[in-house]
Order: sequence, then structure tokens, then C-alpha cells
Amino acid sequence: MSEPLLSVRDLGVVYETGRGPVTAVDGVELTVAEGEFAAVVGESGCGKSTLLFALAGLLNPPARITTGTVHFRGTDLVTLTERELNALRWRDYSVVLQSAMNALNPVATLAMQFRDAMAAHGTYTKDEIHGRSVEVLRLVGIDPVHLRSYPHQLSGGMRQRSMIAMALLLTPDLVIMDEPTSALDVVAQRSLMVQIKELQQLLGFAVLFVTHDMSLVSHFSDQLLVMYAGQIVEQGPTRTVFDHPSHPYSRGLLEAFPSVRGPRVPLRGIPGSPPDLAQPPPGCRFHPRCPLAYEPCDTVQPQLYAAGAARSRCLLHAPVDVAAPEVTS
Ligand code: SF4
Repeated sequence: MSEPLLSVRDLGVVYETGRGPVTAVDGVELTVAEGEFAAVVGESGCGKSTLLFALAGLLNPPARITTGTVHFRGTDLVTLTERELNALRWRDYSVVLQSAMNALNPVATLAMQFRDAMAAHGTYTKDEIHGRSVEVLRLVGIDPVHLRSYPHQLSGGMRQRSMIAMALLLTPDLVIMDEPTSALDVVAQRSLMVQIKELQQLLGFAVLFVTHDMSLVSHFSDQLLVMYAGQIVEQGPTRTVFDHPSHPYSRGLLEAFPSVRGPRVPLRGIPGSPPDLAQPPPGCRFHPRCPLAYEPCDTVQPQLYAAGAARSRCLLHAPVDVAAPEVTS
């Protein structure tokens, strides 16, 4: 079997705070194959954006990687210097952040920003830079006349598309996206998702997409990773997780948004709120909110167990000797 494009093993990220270390990402394992669309979903504060920043080499103090490896094309990104990472970013992998308005330079035209990104990663003639800039803007459906525009002259959707165009300038193998559609209305969100998927299929790059909105990725991702309290709690093919969620948290997320098909059912949220990561609950981190919690859940820490085609961090899927309630005489 060929090596995956991205392979993450036992990744841990800690924020050093006045209250002590807070583990925001704990033992995360994931792989993304060439050309695959993988999505990471979870509530705010579950660690998904920290995970993305760690993978992209964009973490700043007080956050730091404490354990694990992030192999991209066989190179462990965790061991690289900032300079070595800069050489890879944009060319081999690129990052599209949540707010294009913050990511784009407000006092530079798109042409200037595209030129700087290309010039930092190779020697290109003016014509080559202009030609590629026109090409990527067309790819995302923006008239190249906007190369002369400043970010404030573009709509929110066009700014996000410009960021995606910029991310594609140097034909990277992986595009990492942090909620790139969250500032858009529902119609613009859907249209941008369709466009990202079409571009991915046309150009063959892989996508790692982070979002709090599980419904957004249902028709676009190949693999789904559900994150809760810094850990991956379910991972599997997207269709499997949507049709047969094996973890009670995934089930809760799915029941929290309406479906336009099928019978009308009342929407159910997940009671309670995510735990304080400075003091996560003992045992299963989801046990204070879990409708299926049983005796060992507040003492035994679940691992990721096989659950059909998926893997689930739930004792209901553990081998019997791990998950059996303690017998008291
Ligand atoms: Fe719920 Fe227990 Fe499974 Fe955790 S291990 S998700 S508390 S049933």
C-alpha cells in the first residue's frame, strides 16, 4: 500500500496558561490519502482549530506540540524549523483560514498578494505570475479584472474564493481549511462547498476541512473525524458515520440539525456543555453528557475501538473484558 499523504500519530498540543497546562489536542491519530477529502467536526472549543494549526505548523506560544509526529510526504513537520516549514507552505500544502478579511492584506491588491506568494517560493517572470494569477482566479469563478481589487472591494464570498485561489497558486497536494464558509450565508456556503469539491476533483489535491457544522460536509467529504474534548471520538467513511453513527456524541451532533428529507422529528441538542480541558472528566470525557453512560464510563478511559467500518471511542464497542461493569459483592 502506498504511503498516505498526511499521517498524524499521537499528536498532543498543550496551552501553558496561568491555571496550568491545558491539553487541547490529545493523542490524535489520522491519515489523509492523496486526493482525499477529510473533515474534522466538533463543537467550539473541542480542539479542532488547534489541531489544524498544529498540522499546518502555525501554532504560537502559549500553545506547543508536546507529543507525536505529523508526517507529510514522509517528512515529520514537527521537527522542521520555521524556515523549512515556510518553504513547504503554499507549495506543498496551503492553508485557508476562517476569515479571509483577516488573512488577506487589506492594503494590497489581489495581484500584489498573489505575486508575493509566488515570488517567495520560486523564480517566476512577471508574465508567469500574471498568467497563473488569472488562471487561479478563473478557477474559482472570479473575473481576473479583480486582480486590481483590494479585499474591501470584494464581497465576503469573493474574498473566500480569492483565498482559495491563492492557496492553489502553486498547485499544492494538500489544502487545509479552517471553517472557510462560516462567515457566509447558507446559499453562498453551499455554492462554495460545491466549488471546493469540483476543484478538488479537477486538480486532485487532498483537503483537510475543519468545521463545527456536520451537515456542511455530509455530501463532500470521504472521511469524517468527530472530535470531542481534544480527542477523536469517531472516525470512518463519511457515509457510514452519517448513516450509522457509532458514538453517542456523533449521534447527538446529527440529531441537533434538521433534515429536509424523511419524517419530521423533534430536534434534540446535546445536554450540558463541553468539559473544561484543564480538568477533563475521568473515564470517558463524554460521560457527564452521554445518554448511554453506564457503570465503567466514569472510570475507564475508552480507546478507539473498531465499530463496523468506523472506529469509536466508546466502551460500548470495547472488548468485553475492558467494558464490563465492576461487580461488587
Ligand atoms: Fe457514553 Fe460510556 Fe460510550 Fe462514553 S464510553 S460515549 S459515556 S457509553
